[in-house]
Amino acid sequence: MKVSELLKDNKVTISCELFPPKKGAQLENYKVIVGKIAELKPSYISCTYGATGGTSDYTVEIADTINSYGIPAIAHLTCVSSTKEKVHSVINELKERKIENILALRGDIPENADFPLPNQYHHAIELIREIKEAGDFCIGGACYPEGHPEAETMDADLDYLKEKVDAGCDYLTTQMFFDNNIYYRFLYKALAKGIDVPVTAGIMPVTNAAQVKRTISLTGNLVPAKFLSIVDRFGDNPDAMRQAGIAYATEQIIDLIANGVNHIHIYSMNKPDVAGAIMGNLSEIYVRE
Ligand code: FAD
Repeated sequence: MKVSELLKDNKVTISCELFPPKKGAQLENYKVIVGKIAELKPSYISCTYGATGGTSDYTVEIADTINSYGIPAIAHLTCVSSTKEKVHSVINELKERKIENILALRGDIPENADFPLPNQYHHAIELIREIKEAGDFCIGGACYPEGHPEAETMDADLDYLKEKVDAGCDYLTTQMFFDNNIYYRFLYKALAKGIDVPVTAGIMPVTNAAQVKRTISLTGNLVPAKFLSIVDRFGDNPDAMRQAGIAYATEQIIDLIANGVNHIHIYSMNKPDVAGAIMGNLSEIYVRE
């Protein structure tokens, strides 16, 4: 099923994200994780794709496993570190395995890389155009409520985002944010640019202190004082930090839904227990079918 069909509805959707194993890892162990997340009955599950190749080998396989549980799968696909031939072969494989949803991404530019090489991609929009030509896929794109770290201005970032949507994105998923006001302001700015596709709100449950530092350094996210107090108080106590992180993410989601945001994407990564605890907290708000 195409995710764009689900996002057309006024019903609340809650989706989860996981990442595939590294090359050489036990694929069967990862399929157990997929099964546990599938048991939570999220609206759909997405699987990331390593831009530098390390974790990209199994994305299609994991997406296929997600579909086998009767849950729509989104396969992420990055282009910046790949040749066009490689990207086209992955798109063909997705088509053959009847995976209908692709999140089309540029990927981060690898350090020390000669970029771009001949016959390489520069931006996600090139990939979006090629997927559009290659078949009847539902195409998603990434967006950044706080601006992409490389963008000169938020305004320029939004202009490029509008071009991506016009090129064929059926929906967008946001980078994680920890203050809902940032998302609300972003929606207004995007609408003012004429971006009117669904914008799924990306929520990252932060359940350990090290994750906070990593997240800030990767995304440049603003972290509200309320959140920092949680890390200060509970950062050294893993169980308490986990509980507080789950509560914080739950509260963010409830505030979003209460304010009319229907589509939530949990960066659950490979932690079915964390995703399960959040889903449990929302059991009367997100009624699973
Ligand atoms: P783009 O849309 O190409 O944008 C990148 C930068 O270029 C922005 O600053 C933008 O303003 C600018 N830009 C865009 N178009 C143009 C243009 N035509 N001309 C000039 N400048 C332009 N990474 C992974 O490796 N694997 C994953 O699975 C993965 N999943 C993700 C899922 C989500 C929901 C998000 C938000 C990010 C994900 N990422 C993933 C990270 C992502 O690959 C990086 O953030 C990357 O740096 C940008 O990707 P993009 O698709 O947004 O790129």
